[in-house]
Amino acid sequence: MSPADPAGVVVVGNGMAGSRFVDELRSRDAATPVTVFGAEAQRPYNRILLSNVLAGKTRPDHISLVDAAWYAAHGVDARLGVEATRIDRAARTVHASDGTVTPYGTLVLATGSTAFVPPMPGLEDGLPRGAEVFRTLEDCRRISALAESARRAVVVGGGLLGIEAARGLTGRGLVVTVLHLAGHLMERQLDPAAGKVLVRTLAALGIGTRLQAAVTGLRTDGGAVTGVELALPGGGTEVVDADLVVLSCGVRPEVGLARDAGLAVGRAVIVDDELRSVTDPAVRAIGECSEHRDEVYGLVAPAWEQAAVLAGLLAGTDPAARFTGARQITRLKAAGIELASMGETHFGDDDEDVEVVRFTDAARGTYKKAVIRDGRLIGAILLGETSTAGTLTQLYDRASPLPAERLGLLFPGVDAAPEAESPVRMPDAATVCQCNNVSKGQIRACWQSGARTADAVARGTRASTGCGSCRSAVEGIVAWLDEQDTVDVA
Ligand SMILES: Cc1cc2nc3c(=O)[nH]c(=O)nc-3n(C[C@H](O)[C@H](O)[C@H](O)COP(=O)(O)OP(=O)(O)OC[C@H]3O[C@@H](n4cnc5c(N)ncnc54)[C@H](O)[C@@H]3O)c2cc1C
Repeated sequence: MSPADPAGVVVVGNGMAGSRFVDELRSRDAATPVTVFGAEAQRPYNRILLSNVLAGKTRPDHISLVDAAWYAAHGVDARLGVEATRIDRAARTVHASDGTVTPYGTLVLATGSTAFVPPMPGLEDGLPRGAEVFRTLEDCRRISALAESARRAVVVGGGLLGIEAARGLTGRGLVVTVLHLAGHLMERQLDPAAGKVLVRTLAALGIGTRLQAAVTGLRTDGGAVTGVELALPGGGTEVVDADLVVLSCGVRPEVGLARDAGLAVGRAVIVDDELRSVTDPAVRAIGECSEHRDEVYGLVAPAWEQAAVLAGLLAGTDPAARFTGARQITRLKAAGIELASMGETHFGDDDEDVEVVRFTDAARGTYKKAVIRDGRLIGAILLGETSTAGTLTQLYDRASPLPAERLGLLFPGVDAAPEAESPVRMPDAATVCQCNNVSKGQIRACWQSGARTADAVARGTRASTGCGSCRSAVEGIVAWLDEQDTVDVA
């Protein structure tokens, strides 16, 4: 096979998007020279599962995405622990921290994001001892080490990651408080009513929440953190004591290299449907460092879809492939908190043209909401009880017409439920694994080709290898197919 790009493909960033792209490209094209720079020293790992590592549910060595021997076996020049420091677009070369200058025919930027640290007094010289962000495996290791001796933790930021971190730390026996600037938790994914229920759920798990909490600085003693300073609404300050502080204040796309190289950057590197920089056709950008149709995604499913589209284009195996945008579905991965959210969740009863179906049982930590427009699901929240999450995800993803009876959207087993969770009734086109975009039909095909366990299906299709929340659905489908097989044979 002749190489798709004889001048070679250089990938900057070996995280979730970059490593998947390298894998997708090699599976289509064995010949093109590929070099990948990864600033993190270890082999790529499943960043999504860091929350499980922090919670002590998963071992760090179990989240690796690439075997040690893979790069050599596939002829990929992997520079682990080496940072790309400059792009020379005129010469088409990448300069790196190891002093090398590497030529490229195509440059793929996959530099992801870095954790945002708000400018605050006390942080001028970096984070004091006992304060950490939560983005990398190294961050996770440091937080875990600090948690061994800490007693009181404060998590600054009540978004998805902040809550996952807080839950992980309570699981390790710490007293945890979440400080959140907005009026309700996870305000991007939840409406205020769901946010309120979530506060109760966290309280039941021993996690305190302070809303509208304007953090003004960190208190330290002898270089170690002792507390977090808050501005009080009427003036004055209050200090929340802490010997461990996790800053979870959002992320910023890592676009320094691209900006310095003169590429068009909005919030991230601006690309077209072929993931091509609008400034330079030799440069592509995927994952959290790319901005497509004004959208910068913060989830892995779009990053992995972009990786596959770009690999198909560069290898020439799918010249018509295009990335046209992705729907955003969020699931919280924290023990004792069931939460799924998708689409536009903020509409209320007063909004014209939408229909809102809602159920609240705050005492039991349950809140369910479906937002419907023109007979189609445009948003949903399931908190506390998520057994219709798969059904709602499919309806939302495919913009399918809904049945007249709405209750089945929120409660499993109600007769009018359009597609029960049961693998039997799930159509082949239904997406089972959102992260990897794997349908029930693909799982069935994999089973038919000989995969007889959920692990074998995961290896064959990648289903359940992202956030892992579809694992039980995959197991259910495999069990059902096995059962069908037995019945057929009998
Ligand atoms: C704790 C946690 C939980 C999450 N949970 C979920 C979830 O449940 N579901 C979900 O969909 N998403 C989740 N995410 C988000 C998901 O991990 C990201 O969307 C995904 O990692 C983005 O992939 P990426 O490759 O664009 O960026 P990254 O995975 O961040 O990879 C970028 C890589 O590029 C490297 N890099 C940057 N600059 C350079 C340079 N100059 N030279 C060399 N290398 C460089 C970085 O070191 C990094 O390794 C979670 C994230 C975290 C931190």
